[in-house]
Amino acid sequence: MSEPTVLIAGAGLGGLSLAQALLGHGIPVQLFERDATPWDRPQGYRLHLEADALHALREVLPPERHALFRATAMRTTAFTTILNTSLEVVKQIPTDDGQDAEHWPQYVSDENVHCNVDRATLREILLDGLEEHIHFGRQVASYESTADGVTVAFADGTTAHGTILVGADGIRSAVRAQRAPNLRTMDAGVQAIYGRIPWEAAVAVLPDAVLQDIFAIGMDNRKVFLGLGAVDFPTEPSAAARGAGRPCLLEPRGRYAVCIVGGRHEHFPHSHDELRAMPPARLQDVALSVLTDWPEPARHALAAAEPESFFSVGMDTSVPGQLERHGTVTLLGDAVHAMTPTLGRGANLAMRDGALLSRRLKRVADGTSTVAEALAAYEDEMVAYGFDVVRESVRMGEQRMSQNPLPR
Ligand SMILES: Cc1cc2nc3c(=O)[nH]c(=O)nc-3n(C[C@H](O)[C@H](O)[C@H](O)COP(=O)(O)OP(=O)(O)OC[C@H]3O[C@@H](n4cnc5c(N)ncnc54)[C@H](O)[C@@H]3O)c2cc1C
Repeated sequence: MSEPTVLIAGAGLGGLSLAQALLGHGIPVQLFERDATPWDRPQGYRLHLEADALHALREVLPPERHALFRATAMRTTAFTTILNTSLEVVKQIPTDDGQDAEHWPQYVSDENVHCNVDRATLREILLDGLEEHIHFGRQVASYESTADGVTVAFADGTTAHGTILVGADGIRSAVRAQRAPNLRTMDAGVQAIYGRIPWEAAVAVLPDAVLQDIFAIGMDNRKVFLGLGAVDFPTEPSAAARGAGRPCLLEPRGRYAVCIVGGRHEHFPHSHDELRAMPPARLQDVALSVLTDWPEPARHALAAAEPESFFSVGMDTSVPGQLERHGTVTLLGDAVHAMTPTLGRGANLAMRDGALLSRRLKRVADGTSTVAEALAAYEDEMVAYGFDVVRESVRMGEQRMSQNPLPR
């Protein structure tokens, strides 16, 4: 068989990376996204990227888009900073950058590759060029296998037909619910409130290490934490770089620090569902109330954040398990191996999955593999590294924020 048509459910970072890579290989692709537009809901601010994401982006993006990515990525030091509750630096922990020489032999390097990027900027770069392939407002409801592939049914009653369906539809994946109902997610026992401190205020109230290291975290004896991480465009991307695909692709959104106040549910005065219903400025007040016993600098930092920037985050994790074989439907990213943000690796893995799956599907287009062989080879590799990182993130989450352990 040549030229499989790939249907992707979900235009998150994983689905977009896969779509970019497939187009690069000349493989037809259609992406279906539930949200009505790319910017329907807050998706977060800073993202930490390391070897997996950086190598994947080099592989999946056309050169001019990759140059724009590099111009908008802040190269951090290779440290995670531990703060006390007065926001004084206790130590800076050297942090592994996830170089996997076996998986990415072509890119092995001793260079420190840690980056902080703005999520919306990265998403905009990954969306560019996909306009004709992406369908917003199309929520995948279910699928049916057919003799020549798979038919997807949408919540609006329409259908689409392709050779392969990839569920890249996040932690509450509808595709996973049908494809692998045995794979469960669970409440990690933790919730958080997330906001953004403008750059000038961040420089005034935070230690230098917070502005340069990957991430900084202070916690109290309840394991309630304040996390802080900077995004600073090294240089504003030139007009030429921005216009490489279409004019003025990018409104620079860098130069800020994120703040995230989190801990076990019982340390918050409201449940996650109640927080989700609150306006942003009230969330800032709740975050301040959670840190009420902390010395002034922490509350100053939170108070300096933009009131309208706050939103709440509930933390769930996948429970590692078996992914049985299926000839035409597979999963990618948080749809299969979601984790809490303790390690900052979920998006890295979603992009790694996208690059890996596109390589396997290229073999189908080249006529050197069947679809079933390509999906099996992808899943064997993805499940092994994906669930390893889920387990590691749970271990770290238990230490740092009393995350619930995985069931035995
Ligand atoms: C506070 C926070 C901080 C984080 N920080 C980091 C970090 O620093 N580094 C890192 O690597 N990771 C980080 N992560 C994790 C990272 O955000 C996720 O792992 C990553 O977004 C997963 O990408 P994805 O494409 O698999 O899923 P998603 O980003 O969840 O995308 C799924 C997409 O599918 C769409 N969708 C859902 N259901 C359907 C449907 N039925 N039909 C069609 N479309 C559908 C959704 O609207 C969405 O656009 C963080 C997470 C959080 C919560």
